[in-house]
Amino acid sequence: MHNTNVSEYMDANKAGAKWAFEIPPEPVAEELIKETIKTQLVVVGEGLSGLCTALAAREKGVDTVIITASGGPVGRGGSVCAAYSKVMERLGLPRQEVKDFYLEEFAASSFGVDQRKWYRFYKHSEEAMNWLIDMVEKDGVEVVLEDGNEDDVHSPTYQPAGTHAFVGKGVTFAGAGIMLAIKVLESNYLAAGGRVYYRTAAKQLIKDKSGRISGVIAADENGNYIKYEAEKAVVLATGDFSKNKDMMMKYCPAYAKYFKYGNDSYDTGFAVGGLFKGEGQQMALWAGAAWQRTFPNAIFVQGSRLGSHMPYGSHRGLRLNINGERYCNEDCNGAYTAITVLRQPKETAFAIWGTNYAYELPWHPHGGRRGDKALPPEKVIAGWEREVQSGRLIKCDTLEELVVKLGLPKEKALSEIERYNELCRKGEDTDFYKKSKYLQEKKQAPFYGGALDD
Ligand SMILES: Cc1cc2nc3c(=O)[nH]c(=O)nc-3n(C[C@H](O)[C@H](O)[C@H](O)COP(=O)(O)OP(=O)(O)OC[C@H]3O[C@@H](n4cnc5c(N)ncnc54)[C@H](O)[C@@H]3O)c2cc1C
Repeated sequence: MHNTNVSEYMDANKAGAKWAFEIPPEPVAEELIKETIKTQLVVVGEGLSGLCTALAAREKGVDTVIITASGGPVGRGGSVCAAYSKVMERLGLPRQEVKDFYLEEFAASSFGVDQRKWYRFYKHSEEAMNWLIDMVEKDGVEVVLEDGNEDDVHSPTYQPAGTHAFVGKGVTFAGAGIMLAIKVLESNYLAAGGRVYYRTAAKQLIKDKSGRISGVIAADENGNYIKYEAEKAVVLATGDFSKNKDMMMKYCPAYAKYFKYGNDSYDTGFAVGGLFKGEGQQMALWAGAAWQRTFPNAIFVQGSRLGSHMPYGSHRGLRLNINGERYCNEDCNGAYTAITVLRQPKETAFAIWGTNYAYELPWHPHGGRRGDKALPPEKVIAGWEREVQSGRLIKCDTLEELVVKLGLPKEKALSEIERYNELCRKGEDTDFYKKSKYLQEKKQAPFYGGALDD
């Protein structure tokens, strides 16, 4: 973990100043430019966004060039959402009335979102997903629906069906196959006459006399400057800025310390702790673009799935902080759980459960497909045993032994467990009002526990 915090990094003097990334560099001198390449559209970056844009443009006959700092196309994960699709139709899933869901999501962010984008997704993602499905299926890639959290519509864990995943060619885990789709997108783009320049990092945007963006200056891997002139547009699709400490400090100060800075790879695939340096965003700012008016910027937290019976859930049983206190309704997904843990003393909390937990709820692991049968309890327990072997979980025959091994204050932790068990027996959580169906007593040995630190 990186040890910077906002107060160390920022003080009143610095607060009024500009961040280094906000100050435009000197324009690259014309005589340093080795080559000029003309096209109609320049797409900067070859991830999913850049490739979809570039291929869609080629399909409409637009002369298109991708320049990317990576050595090839990049991607990570592979859970791709759409409101509906032909795959969902084949599975007999109903078209979801998701407007209520959207209103709840807006409320969750105090309506600090651009609703036009959300409803654009709602109205047009089906068309986009069907375009992708047709393309990848022709190439032998199967599109499935990833298993999600089956829960009541108004539960904080509820996920509407719609997470698509690409499997086949050795990928079986639903949600890990994005590169299957990305490779098909790239080969279709090249077959349609699109051009790609690898290891070419965009440095500055060019404006024409009217102030319109008319191109981009990039450096190839030998440091030669090349000018790409775009008759129609330049699209910046350079990914995120989580590898840029200053940008993180400015736009996501509360989370900046959890990222690792310093590795400058442009080929980052599946990696946590930071991807790219926000070079596209910086170039746009230098050219006069406005930053979205949402603060802090959304962060992508997806941790704390330890001991979860749902694919994107979190442990539903008892959670204790380092003082041995229960501190919340545990009924929320992995991402929200991670955020509640970060607000606890020493940013730490523990999940504790008994063997009966495997038998009392249907277990659906991450990476399965919608409609898969629940895992049999023996397989659930075998999974816990693997976590015990890896040191992530502690297993004990008594709760007393377990809380001591977890480093919790014994008396307090045991009294909280007893209180929790009492609420379970009553079938009503009058402390944090968790749903009764998630009240499972800690009653059957062996008992398991671990830190919610993923
Ligand atoms: C661990 C992890 C798992 C994830 N899993 C999922 C998932 O399952 N489903 C999902 O929807 N999202 C997932 N995401 C988020 C997802 O990766 C991003 O939202 C998505 O990749 C963004 O696509 P993009 O094309 O905008 O950027 P990226 O895929 O990040 O691509 C950026 C491209 O720009 C290039 N580039 C950067 N700077 C320059 C420059 N100066 N000049 C030229 N090129 C440049 C890069 O080399 C790269 O080619 C995950 C993220 C992480 C970190």
